[in-house]
Amino acid sequence: VWGRVKNVCKQNGLLILSVLAVVIGCLLGFFLRGKQLSEQEVKYFQFPGELLMRMLKMLILPLVVSSNMFPANLVQATFQQYRTQRVAELIPKPTVAQLLDETTTRRVYIYGIQDDNGTDTQNFSLDLTPPPDVIVKTSPGTSEGMNVLGIVIFSATMGIMLGRMGPNGSALVNFCQSLNEAVLKIVAIVIWYFPFGIVFLVAGKILEMDDPSAMGKKLGFYAITVVMGLVLHGLFILPAMYFFITKKSPIVYIRGILQALLISLATSSSSATLPITFKCLLENNHIDRRIIRFVLPVGATINMDGTALYEAVAAIFIAQVNNYELDFGQIITISITATAASIGAAGIPQAGLVTMVIVLTSVGLPTDDITLIIAVDWALDRFRTMVNVMGDALATGIMAHICRKDFVKEGEQVRTSKVRS
Ligand code: ASP
Repeated sequence: VWGRVKNVCKQNGLLILSVLAVVIGCLLGFFLRGKQLSEQEVKYFQFPGELLMRMLKMLILPLVVSSNMFPANLVQATFQQYRTQRVAELIPKPTVAQLLDETTTRRVYIYGIQDDNGTDTQNFSLDLTPPPDVIVKTSPGTSEGMNVLGIVIFSATMGIMLGRMGPNGSALVNFCQSLNEAVLKIVAIVIWYFPFGIVFLVAGKILEMDDPSAMGKKLGFYAITVVMGLVLHGLFILPAMYFFITKKSPIVYIRGILQALLISLATSSSSATLPITFKCLLENNHIDRRIIRFVLPVGATINMDGTALYEAVAAIFIAQVNNYELDFGQIITISITATAASIGAAGIPQAGLVTMVIVLTSVGLPTDDITLIIAVDWALDRFRTMVNVMGDALATGIMAHICRKDFVKEGEQVRTSKVRS
């Protein structure tokens, strides 16, 4: 028995450490809540977790770019452009205004809900686990500021062109391939920092959260409904879809991505989890690299099943709190706009809360009531992000299955047409 235990630990060491890290983080967080730490002390305490987030974000751009054959000098030019577009993107005008809180070193977005005269009636702020202010103001440089979808599409276009250029493009192709290998090697090293970072990330969030006893019964039922919906979708519907299309075991597939799911639980960000999902699919599930590098970043940006589900439940909850009877047509409208809003949400912590405005306005519900669900959102965000990541990973597996006949195995020579004699 001891031998078997040792074997399991050896094979899944990192995974076991990560699970332990979540548990230790929770315990440490609740223990330290009783110690009344000052804001400054909490900030220092959160530093190792912040470092983890940054390591992950650092890897996204080179990974997405190199895996799609994108020349580095053009990344910068495109990036500059996104930098200026980003502020406009983050402000779903005219009701939500964004300010940066100058007083703290953490980045805080304050969304002021305005009435018709433009006066602020309600404010709430979201912590987007950030780089220092100086960097925030001058550059995105992280997943928050990155239009991953735009980069994927541009990279893929470049890839196609490089392919057409034949030998003339090979220098760039080789460069991108080496970059890709190097990034994956970096992932393999920094992955060992994750369990340590997770402890502080989870504990730090618990230190920040509002008093759970003040949440109220209604909010509790709302949270339970969202979690039950996510469990149903993540554990039954998504695996069933995978099974019916591929006829392969979803359990084996999900086992391969457990590390990525844990990281999504700890970071609340599908974009930040991207490098790990990439590695898991490549090394554990043996999915063709060419499928992963296109499907996964696109999925992490627009495919958010968990977010869509949560936004629909949240809108219905807000309607009930206001004693507002929804008819069938309005429920359909909520389903459609929640899906659209989830596509628009970025893969960053609590982005879904911002795009909720779209869903609520579509059926005439008060947008101010978003503040009602903020207290539990930090926790629900983790679970919906997990489902988002799981959806992306399973979709990549399904795509690989569908395309299996069209793709020649990597390393194999593409069959050339007969040479005319
Ligand atoms: N945090 C989610 C994600 O990164 C987005 C959201 O629903 O807030 O996938």
